[in-house]
Amino acid sequence: MPELPEVETIRRGITPHIQGKIIREVIVRQPRLRWPVPADLAEQLCGHPVEQIDRRSKYLLLRLSGGTLIMHLGMSGSLHILPADTPPKRHDHLDLRFGTHCLRLHDPRRFGAVLWHDATAEEHPLLAKLGPEPLQQAFNADYLYEATRERSVAVKNLLMNSRIVVGVGNIYASESLFCARIHPAQPAGKISKRRCSRLVDCVKQVLEQAIAQGGTSLRDFTREDGRPGYFAQQLQVYGRTDAACRCCATPIRRIQLGQRSSYLCPHCQPLSTA
Ligand SMILES: [Zn+2]
Repeated sequence: MPELPEVETIRRGITPHIQGKIIREVIVRQPRLRWPVPADLAEQLCGHPVEQIDRRSKYLLLRLSGGTLIMHLGMSGSLHILPADTPPKRHDHLDLRFGTHCLRLHDPRRFGAVLWHDATAEEHPLLAKLGPEPLQQAFNADYLYEATRERSVAVKNLLMNSRIVVGVGNIYASESLFCARIHPAQPAGKISKRRCSRLVDCVKQVLEQAIAQGGTSLRDFTREDGRPGYFAQQLQVYGRTDAACRCCATPIRRIQLGQRSSYLCPHCQPLSTA
């Protein structure tokens, strides 16, 4: 599943190919995605340039003068920049054509979304209630400390709550907590200001590292068989059950938290109250 660093990598990958370019044609081969693709999409888009490509949480925002095309890649979506006449394969549901090349959405499981919003994108119901972006200044130690007071929920679940902070999925929540040496099941309200500060730094660091690694896959956007934005990176704890901790050699443990697998080093990440 694409997480925030993957979506940011995709945004950077497609931007030079579509920014300022006029959408000439919209081809919808399969309108039944997570929500129906608007029937009048071509009418809204054709003839207009893509002015800017932004990201909010895991949504890509293609801003046009009259509104915003909101795209989400769901569980299995990917985007490619291809010659416009490239024959479509199975699950190639939508093309935006810009003359000689196109932006093509491929999504086998169809949990992705393509929506049009003709007002401020940030006020769309899917985006309006989202918490701050993890890489922006609004996500800081004071904010996290205030947001966690009186909360008995496990800190990992709180970190994955998009009303608290967006785009921290299972992998990056586990990795950030290891980086901050905080047990994933630690009640959020018991984490000191100092440790909140360290956790904020670790979330930013882990996501920035992943985005930096994603940069190496940017050229894959223009290859039909490329897997842009999906990259193997060196994970410290996620998926490493029983493997030796890279810091202390203690076997990594897997626990269940809120239906999700969590990974931790019991030596480096003890449960504590301080
Ligand atoms: Zn360890």
